[in-house]
Amino acid sequence: TRKVERIDTQVDEMRVRRKDSNALKVIENVFDDATLKTLYTISNKGIIKALGGSISTGKEANVFLAEGEDRNLAVKIYRISSSTFNSMEEYILGDPRFRNVRHSKRDIIFAWTKKEHRNLERAIEAGVKVPVPIISERNVLVMEFMGEGERSYPQLKEAGVNKENARAFFDTISKYIELLYTKANLVHGDLSEYNILVDPHTQEPIFIDMGQSVTLEHPKSQEFLRRDIENIIRYFKKYGIDADPEKLYSTIREI
Ligand code: ADP
Ligand code: MN
Repeated sequence: TRKVERIDTQVDEMRVRRKDSNALKVIENVFDDATLKTLYTISNKGIIKALGGSISTGKEANVFLAEGEDRNLAVKIYRISSSTFNSMEEYILGDPRFRNVRHSKRDIIFAWTKKEHRNLERAIEAGVKVPVPIISERNVLVMEFMGEGERSYPQLKEAGVNKENARAFFDTISKYIELLYTKANLVHGDLSEYNILVDPHTQEPIFIDMGQSVTLEHPKSQEFLRRDIENIIRYFKKYGIDADPEKLYSTIREI
């Protein structure tokens, strides 16, 4: 188990050990001075008391466990330095909610973080199970931790889908895609067995990773919806679910 340390102690240690190892270089990539300041701001608001271990290192963001007031939280930090941001720009620029965002890399990343926060809120309003967002500041998004103890719930890929439970999972996931589309006017845009967690107690799917989710006005929203549907149908095919992507696509659009 990972020890949860106070942010300031942890950061001081990082400074001392700076350049000591490659691992720390990676850490430094995430915790640049501006990001540290942002974490202090959030910490001063009393939202996070301490930062815990790393949950995930992705292409654009790192996710960490954090200790909140009375429960664990997940902190997603978009890296300013090593972000694959060209694709971000395309998503942001097609979204009418972000018409006035300046085009500097930093500002695009901040808008992206805010977009993920708002997308999660919209998903919740539409009745889709996602982590509840708590605060977003610059490139940092704090949200409900979907896990137990210090372990995240498994991704759908690791959640033990089988021929018996596949239909229930598939139906709920299809329902969520539809609710997102019809009630939130959103398309997830990166839906797959990796961006769905499963609560092992309720067997409930949880959509995550909504930074790239777009509104229906986005020029590629239909393309993204088709791709999301195809990914899900492809995944469930192995478990005996035989669904036609085009049919699901038109059902969702007709509702
Ligand atoms: P990325 O853009 O790097 O794929 P994700 O949002 O998909 O970022 O998060 C990466 C991983 O971190 C997820 O697969 C999941 O295991 C974990 N994770 C993300 N958000 C949460 C959360 N709110 N609670 C628990 N684990 C999370
Ligand atoms: Mn992801």
